[in-house]
Amino acid sequence: MAQKFQNFINGKWVDAKSGRAFENRNPANWEEVVGTFPKSGKEDVDEAVKAARAAFEKWRLVPAPARSDIMRKLGDLMARRKEELAREMTREMGKVLAETRGDVQEGIDTAYYAAGEGRRLFGKTVPSELPNKFAMSMRVPIGVAGVITPWNFPMAIPTWKIFPAVLSGNTVVFKPAQDTPKTATTLVEIMMEAGIPEAVVNIVHGGGSEVGTAIVGHPDVDLVSFTGSTVVGKQISKDAAETLKRVSLELGGKNAQIVMDDADLDLALDGVLWGAFGTTGQRCTATSRLILHDKIYEKFMSMLVDRTKKLKLGDGLKAGTDVGPCVNESQRKTVESYVEVGKKEGATLVVGGAAAKGDGLSKGWFHEPTIFTDVTPAMRIAKEEIFGPILSVLRAKSLEDAIRTLNNTIYGLSSSVYTRDVNKAFTAMRDIQAGITYINASTIGAEAHLPFGGVKQTGNGHREGGWTVYDFFTEWKTVYVDYSGKLQRAQIDNY
Ligand code: NAP
Ligand code: MG
Repeated sequence: MAQKFQNFINGKWVDAKSGRAFENRNPANWEEVVGTFPKSGKEDVDEAVKAARAAFEKWRLVPAPARSDIMRKLGDLMARRKEELAREMTREMGKVLAETRGDVQEGIDTAYYAAGEGRRLFGKTVPSELPNKFAMSMRVPIGVAGVITPWNFPMAIPTWKIFPAVLSGNTVVFKPAQDTPKTATTLVEIMMEAGIPEAVVNIVHGGGSEVGTAIVGHPDVDLVSFTGSTVVGKQISKDAAETLKRVSLELGGKNAQIVMDDADLDLALDGVLWGAFGTTGQRCTATSRLILHDKIYEKFMSMLVDRTKKLKLGDGLKAGTDVGPCVNESQRKTVESYVEVGKKEGATLVVGGAAAKGDGLSKGWFHEPTIFTDVTPAMRIAKEEIFGPILSVLRAKSLEDAIRTLNNTIYGLSSSVYTRDVNKAFTAMRDIQAGITYINASTIGAEAHLPFGGVKQTGNGHREGGWTVYDFFTEWKTVYVDYSGKLQRAQIDNY
């Protein structure tokens, strides 16, 4: 019998009101059921929002440094359970252990950062234009935050949202992806153990079209923080407009790595292998395009093909595995369909290109690391987010040419340039249209204490991470104190 998990609403573990449930399976072995989870609906969301709203009235009054103490405990508890959490995550969504450990570590870093922020949350005092008048502006919590997350960073992304939301004094209704409900459930358990009061965080499992839409449309949810696909992000933006909610959207990417003719090629090779095939290409920051300078093209391609063929596919829990499975059947089908698209468009398939079979791979959603060359900017495989282990290789004659190709996308999340020429590096830093640019490092590697997010259709201008996410989860309230004892009129009495 598969283990049964529940929602956490108003401080109690409960089933979906409908009594329905869904299964979560291991993508490296689909016969293995990780657990069953409630298939919730609008009525469950209503309960959770009601509880979160009531809890907000108390939680907003708890001093932020006291909320910090809970964040520190949270970080300690996660650190103690890091290995267990990483293993659970690999079993649930497939990426290799080294990466799931990193995912948990990002959550720990986010907890400790939040703990520090509770003793800052700086406001401003500003001189008033009038005598005997004091002027200041301070951050205040907003209310109930809806948090909707994807499956590819099952720990890091929920913590990026929930920890700053809660530290700022908001309460939360959390809907994790159906592919990673277990990691999300354990995170909630740990939050309760750390001392977050009941009903401050509620988790409602289930589908995006039921639970997600109910959260976004709920008149008593004040803000929504979403990470996921651009298609769903656009829908959420429209749905949230009905109630004029504040919405933070972190969406898709089509990230590129440029390798110039003066680059350290070994370094650039490690970078692209990690960027393109880490997490089986299922990262918002994955390297999906490689732009090579003509002069090093032949040499670099032969190095790249050679190393790609040596990547070991397998269960992420096993030592020696480089690349795990796709997260589920539909994701692998998407990858397979893009292989067909690439062939039809006239690109040249140089490595991979098929669902992987063989020892230990027959019951998992594995797909070979795949590379297409002769890709032109107009091809779909050069433009669309694939979210799988496919790398499209393009050529460039110069830095300007390479940057033009890199920018030729509706997305703008991460980017990378390998060069030893400081002038080229700074030109790239200025001209690349992306929220994140790496010099001599892969498109992957965001740190918890810096702003994270993208330009163009990767998002709507908000930033997660670091100090910037606190702008999203707080409202600026301006206060004037007039101690002159008389009516003083701004803009009038002094002029
Ligand atoms: P997704 O299909 O957009 O789903 C994301 C979340 O939204 C899931 O929890 C999903 O529920 C829910 N959802 C689906 N439809 C909804 C609706 N109409 N209203 C409200 N919620 C809804 O994305 P995914 O496949 O999980 O993740 C992959 C995508 O995320 C990629 O495009 C990737 O680039 C992007 N991503 C972006 C970042 C970033 O920071 N920019 C980071 C990671 C991933 P279900 O449980 O039903 O799926
Ligand atoms: Mg699963």
